[in-house]
Amino acid sequence: MSGGPRLQAPRGTFDVLPGDSPARLSLFNLCQGRLGGAGLQYTETPIFEDTELFARGVGEATDIVQKEMFTLEDRAGRSLTLRPEGTAGVCRAYVEHGMHKLPQPVRLWYWGPFFRHEAPQAGRYRQFNQIGAEALGSDDPSVDAELILLLAELLAEAGVRELRLRLSSLGTAEARRDYADELRAHLLAREDELSPEVRARIEANPLRAFDSAHAGTRAVLADAPRLLDRLTPEDAEHFAEVRALLDEAGLDYEVDPSLVRGLDYYTRTVFEFTSDALGAQSGVGGGGRYDGLVEQLGGPPTAGVGWAAGVERILLAAGGEPRRQAPPAVFVAWEDSRRTAFDLTRRLRQDGLTVQMEQAGRSLKGQLKHADRLRARFAAVVDDDGLELRDLRTGEARPVKTAADIVDAVRSP
Ligand code: AMP
Repeated sequence: MSGGPRLQAPRGTFDVLPGDSPARLSLFNLCQGRLGGAGLQYTETPIFEDTELFARGVGEATDIVQKEMFTLEDRAGRSLTLRPEGTAGVCRAYVEHGMHKLPQPVRLWYWGPFFRHEAPQAGRYRQFNQIGAEALGSDDPSVDAELILLLAELLAEAGVRELRLRLSSLGTAEARRDYADELRAHLLAREDELSPEVRARIEANPLRAFDSAHAGTRAVLADAPRLLDRLTPEDAEHFAEVRALLDEAGLDYEVDPSLVRGLDYYTRTVFEFTSDALGAQSGVGGGGRYDGLVEQLGGPPTAGVGWAAGVERILLAAGGEPRRQAPPAVFVAWEDSRRTAFDLTRRLRQDGLTVQMEQAGRSLKGQLKHADRLRARFAAVVDDDGLELRDLRTGEARPVKTAADIVDAVRSP
């Protein structure tokens, strides 16, 4: 068979190599410990959804929906999209499975791949992984504060360096619409000073101007009206209570009235964690409240709040040395007795030991060297005359009869 040119992974994707996996798996375990420990239940939703879910859920005018989705048609001509974010899918599942009938709030967490057609660079991929948490069915400010604290603790424990938290409130959808009109008028009055991108979005989404790094735009925004000053008394009180809870917990944050997130569904609390240890792509995780989203997706009026954090960004910002896989307790070495070695390996594993066996045809000497390289604690040498157990730390070797003898020796060396 002829080979052909060597294939590469698609642009903006990456392979998780064996050296990367211990850090990822321990991050997953940390999530399960922290989020599971706080009573959030693990969930999974499909990697592709009907395109309409994101058009309705994330918002037609957002960058994600307009420019970044990987959309495909199935054989029946239905439009499907690889999920660019997790909240819409979780809310769809909440409605589809009648989770509003469960005791509220329903608190969930997830981990999995997401897809956005962005220009790849360090820390920005087209397929990346997010950890997410969502709480549906309560507008109590303690839920906002709880989720923010959980993410802060998770990121700190994962070793993310130079972490900063920015926090704001967007108010209710109505307050935001009124404010959008006010901001639109302000922007239109000085339209010629704005960047072309901001100008193009004045009608559809004037708040996104706050995301711009363009100097002229920033100057126009410096004296723009602030949404934080336009909150209704109830929204202002909700925000004050979220802040009070975070203050009492001793969490540092900065109130940033210019914080607008790139998704349309947010109401009230929004927040973003960044790490100065990262380059241009400094966002580690963020989220907010989305009290209208479930209803927008055809469900009953339901409050909700959640966040998502990037697995790869967390690992980058933690900057840990690549860790090695945990060493096996026993390496099974053999030359002519494949079946006996295979059987012994299976029995030892059944008894709960971590075991690897020789599978590359090395000489016995080569096998012992390999066992050392794996940092195995013992080598069980199998040959036709019997079984020998070597303590690879002391070099001591002794004959043993059965798998049970090896288990005993390993458990009480
Ligand atoms: P967002 O939903 O845009 O707020 O994203 C939440 C988090 O996901 C961000 O803070 C990043 O950590 C991560 N993230 C978003 N987009 C990407 C991407 N293209 N590549 C890698 N990580 C990403």
